[in-house]
Amino acid sequence: MQPAIQLSGVWKRYPGNEEPAVRDLDLTVYRGEILALLGPSGCGKTTTLRLIAGFERPDAGTVALNGEVVASEDRFVPPERRGVGMVFQDYALFPHLTVAENIAFGLGRLTRSARRERIRDLLRLTGLEDVHDRYPHQLSGGQQQRVAIARALGPNPQVLLLDEPFSNLDTELRLQMRVELRRLLEQLGITAVLVTHDQQEAMAIADRMAVMLAGHIEQVDTPEKVYHYPVNRAVAQFVGQATFVPARLNGVLAESDLGRFAFEPRASSPDLVELLVRPRDVSLEADPQGIAVVLSRQFQGPETVYLVQLPCGVQLQTSQPSYVDIPPGTRVRVRCNRARLAAFDRHAQIGVT
Ligand code: ATP
Repeated sequence: MQPAIQLSGVWKRYPGNEEPAVRDLDLTVYRGEILALLGPSGCGKTTTLRLIAGFERPDAGTVALNGEVVASEDRFVPPERRGVGMVFQDYALFPHLTVAENIAFGLGRLTRSARRERIRDLLRLTGLEDVHDRYPHQLSGGQQQRVAIARALGPNPQVLLLDEPFSNLDTELRLQMRVELRRLLEQLGITAVLVTHDQQEAMAIADRMAVMLAGHIEQVDTPEKVYHYPVNRAVAQFVGQATFVPARLNGVLAESDLGRFAFEPRASSPDLVELLVRPRDVSLEADPQGIAVVLSRQFQGPETVYLVQLPCGVQLQTSQPSYVDIPPGTRVRVRCNRARLAAFDRHAQIGVT
């Protein structure tokens, strides 16, 4: 696989700020890949996009696009020569230009007929033919977003960067645009980096996701791996509900309130570890011999959320299908999907049971 974007050891601190916005950033995005950059507000996601696009210059480190260094200590290629398209969070459409004129704006020097043909292609690609002569204020949020995408795609960029592309859309449109955007990016085979602070959005749209916390990328992997096998507790907690259940390592067994699981300890594994449990990865069964007790039950339509007291003191949160109906106070047996169990020491994941 060929890298399309490579950041190596990139640092960026804004003047007047004590903390760097990004620190020692390493990230590789492969050609044709859709990567979601996920992290809480202020963690440096937009800064990372701006460094790739060329709107910011790194204090240290290098940025390379398709194998060519575009930013380093002694080299800086300006944004317009990077072959990168960017879709901004607020779309940044020109209010006094029509849809077709907005799209034409990004096209640069083309003959009149080539320009007309390109606009027609882009309108078709993004499903905007019927509204080509409308102004931005006459469009829905989803249509405005498509104009911004069409305009960014105009110059045939190798890489498309999207900053919180769904944040201005209501929930239903968001879900629909996720599917549409993913289909469009796949169809074009374009490399895309999409910034979001929404875990579900990142997981739904990306081939891989990079989790960024406090200016640093903690993990880059498929959504499944990041969710079930996060590299450390901070990532585990950011990408979804997480309960940590203590376990004692006894030879090759991890013994816990959830049962005993074979575990391959590392030389440095402590005797006490913690098992990460996701809400859907356990099931509950009423059982008078059970060692856990249901504390609360919250019906939420398709699922019911239970809080369960374990003897070790931990309260485990789990979502069960809503036909599972166990009143609070009931003793239960908690069954685990052991293929999903990862063990952690105080900071990091130390293996899988
Ligand atoms: P959000 O999700 O809220 O957009 P983000 O993850 O995209 O946040 P950035 O916008 O990259 O984060 O900001 C990272 C840090 O750098 C923040 O602490 C922010 O306040 C600071 N910062 C960003 N831009 C500037 C600037 N132009 N001048 C000074 N500080 C800035």
